[in-house]
Amino acid sequence: MVNRRHFLTISSLVGFLPSLSFGHSRSTIANASSSLKDAETVAGVPPIGPVVISTWKQPKANAAAQAVLDQGGRALDAVEAGVRIPEADPDDMSVGYGGRPDRDGHVTLDACIMDEKGNAGSVTFLEHIMHAISVARAVMEKTPHVMLSGEGAFTFALSQGFKKENLLTKKAEKEWREWLKTAKYKPIANIERHDTIGMLAIDGQGNISGACTTSGLAYKMRGRVGDSPIIGAGLFVDNEIGGACATGLGELVMRTCGSFLVVELMRQGRTPQQACEEAALRIIKKQEFKDIQVGFLAVNKQGEHGAFSIQPGFSYTLSQNKQTQVTDARSYLK
Ligand code: ASP
Repeated sequence: MVNRRHFLTISSLVGFLPSLSFGHSRSTIANASSSLKDAETVAGVPPIGPVVISTWKQPKANAAAQAVLDQGGRALDAVEAGVRIPEADPDDMSVGYGGRPDRDGHVTLDACIMDEKGNAGSVTFLEHIMHAISVARAVMEKTPHVMLSGEGAFTFALSQGFKKENLLTKKAEKEWREWLKTAKYKPIANIERHDTIGMLAIDGQGNISGACTTSGLAYKMRGRVGDSPIIGAGLFVDNEIGGACATGLGELVMRTCGSFLVVELMRQGRTPQQACEEAALRIIKKQEFKDIQVGFLAVNKQGEHGAFSIQPGFSYTLSQNKQTQVTDARSYLK
């Protein structure tokens, strides 16, 4: 429970944040951030060089990305190869094949990818294609557009040689049918299970790329699209500055242009950690945060990284093995 003192603490902490964008000194936010750091905020400084970092527990995905970088490959190829691992994994029930369906039993995928030149590609509400991230890349490289959706994205994927597949596994279908028995239909953003993979990589040339792919919120309304395929919300890369990605309740990330905000805050001088904290705190400032989760992950051009979430439970994976639990606003308030 958040008691009054804690509520006041966070209120006073976030109360002055908007003013920062109007010229207040960096030390103001630094103070806010260092308060959070006292609560054991995690920030890492890996050696500059190839870097792979992803949301949640994804050592296999990171290993696939790292293999590309170890051979001197591009960060773009690395993030695509990396996130294809959970997309193909039926046991990963938040991404690609095996993902939890919408309320009507359809698996619908969202994904986007962004390279060091600022090129971007995205698919939303894509059905029947396992590797949404590769379709997003094809949109980026082979069309004049950034985003394709639904039927159009599916038709485009087929034209590019992608195979039509059933993405609803027996396990996911069984869970969904169980859920139907007890679920009350509430057409609102929910906080049911979700664990998007967002991945950021820096290659040997120092170039940054990112990828984000998900089956979105479990049992979402049909047609619902989250933050993950939206450039600036679920993912943003600026090769001069760094990259950021988000996980959690997409509606909140979209409303605040979350990943773009994190990168812009880094441009203004925040560390990746400070930038993630400020972006999350802005969400909390606008609403009651008892039942909402958003996590941000960021890396800057120097290879420093940071992460922060609203609730406990968010973690990220650096390189292949190091899974790090992220400090969250809720724990800070306890
Ligand atoms: N952000 C995703 C969405 O809202 C869900 C997640 O991160 O798990 O679709």
